Amino acid sequence: MIIHKIEPQGYCGGVTHAIKMAMDAAKNDSISKPIYMLGQIIHNSHVISDLEKLGIITIEEKGLSRLLLLDKINKGTVIFSAHGVSPLVYKKAKEKGLSIIDATCPYVLLVHNKIKEHLDLGYACIYIGTKNHPECEGVIGISDKIHFVSTIEDIKSLNIKNDKVYATNQTTLSIFETKIIFDEIKRIYPNSIIDDKICNATTVRQMAMENQPDADLCIVVGDKKSSNTKKLYSVSIERGIKTILIEDLKSLPKESLIGVKKINISSGASTPSYIVDEIIDYLKSLEN
Ligand code: SF4
Repeated sequence: MIIHKIEPQGYCGGVTHAIKMAMDAAKNDSISKPIYMLGQIIHNSHVISDLEKLGIITIEEKGLSRLLLLDKINKGTVIFSAHGVSPLVYKKAKEKGLSIIDATCPYVLLVHNKIKEHLDLGYACIYIGTKNHPECEGVIGISDKIHFVSTIEDIKSLNIKNDKVYATNQTTLSIFETKIIFDEIKRIYPNSIIDDKICNATTVRQMAMENQPDADLCIVVGDKKSSNTKKLYSVSIERGIKTILIEDLKSLPKESLIGVKKINISSGASTPSYIVDEIIDYLKSLEN
């Protein structure tokens, strides 16, 4: 069996930064305890369980926004995840007297700042993102004037009268799908400013998926809630290669390996390297 590891692998800079901040906080006696993570620090259950072992409590409930999740925290320290939070969440945490550790990825912060800047300059702001994703929740919480869109149809139903239009996006979208949406914005609003903010880590991984060698199977390793992981999966499918998305070795369907001679393996920016290595070791053991 030929196993090709699609590079890059391992955490992106934003995830490394967020995990380090959380781990440093857990080990620091001067930080007010208990320490709560508002939502999942990144979308990876293995990382969350590692942080729980250090005493960091993740507060997450399906359907509840970061703002509502804050109601469940009344003392100690709150960590904001790499996805970022809206100004309202920041304000509420301060009013509750909580200590704040902000682990927002710098690339997400840049999107917040650019949108604020353009709103202040009188632009109509279009933001492309995934519904109910925490990164988008943080951005659209900046102002109710932001036009949130996810599809071409959403763009067509906008009726912006402002001559000044600024369009930007969630950092972990598909580079290919986002281009199509930006093209449509440009077609309808020819003078619009298009500011693609897909981060470098996402772009490089998707390009590597697009250029992966032919294989009988591509395995994408990562959490099913991770946006960048799901996009790697779709890019590989679009590339015409049979692809599966699994969280770890336990969830690898063994029947998917029947008759497979060439395997490519990729992983999301929030997948720990050791999980990929375990899968590769297992695949290699089948050769013996
Ligand atoms: S995927 Fe990109 S935006 Fe998300 S945490 Fe990593 S570097 Fe930041």
